[in-house]
Amino acid sequence: MDAQYFSQLPNDVQEWAQNIEAHCGFDISVRREPRRHTACEFGPGYARILLPNNGVLRPESGFHELSHLDRFLVKGIGQLVPVGSALHAPEAAFTKLDNALEHIAFVGAEVARFPGRNDYWCEIIRRELQRLPGAAMDKNDRKMWTLVLNAFFAIANLQAVATVEELQQAIHRYLNVGEVEDFVATVRDRLEDKLTLSQFICGKWGFQLHTVGLNCIDVASGSEFVTPLG
Ligand SMILES: [Zn+2]
Repeated sequence: MDAQYFSQLPNDVQEWAQNIEAHCGFDISVRREPRRHTACEFGPGYARILLPNNGVLRPESGFHELSHLDRFLVKGIGQLVPVGSALHAPEAAFTKLDNALEHIAFVGAEVARFPGRNDYWCEIIRRELQRLPGAAMDKNDRKMWTLVLNAFFAIANLQAVATVEELQQAIHRYLNVGEVEDFVATVRDRLEDKLTLSQFICGKWGFQLHTVGLNCIDVASGSEFVTPLG
């Protein structure tokens, strides 16, 4: 990683970045662009952190993007993608769902390392919940997003009274309590296995499983392959 950005990270995060680069056999590049939030993009032969134009790589943002890169490029965990031509949902829907599943898996560790992130993520969840009633989605989508956001809050072990209130209002609107508890318990059980987790969530959502897959990257061979969920 370019020294200008690398030097903005604490020692343990620097070491993690170096380990990811060593595993991949290429550097993590950093690109500045007109954007509000830090993000990342990657493929079999590259990994890139995208920064807002101010060029500030905050330690917690670096940690967050490295968490994504570590899972996809080092651990080889797959990313949800549409499969075939019989699609009934746009690719963006899968990207958003995949991002949520990834955050459920690693934001607990992020908050343990950077406790200030608790408030950040609680606020994100609140905003998502407040957007649901007016969003262009059907009743089932609202119900499923309420379940996913509940799982995120519980599994990442987030804490905020205001967010709990928002979650309860959404549960009251779209769900019943038993359904939430079962969903969170099943997600927690399957967290270590993205394939069975994706099968469970996409099946419950109502997707036909053969139209969704997990795209896995193998950096050693520089290739990627898609495993359909069904
Ligand atoms: Zn993320």
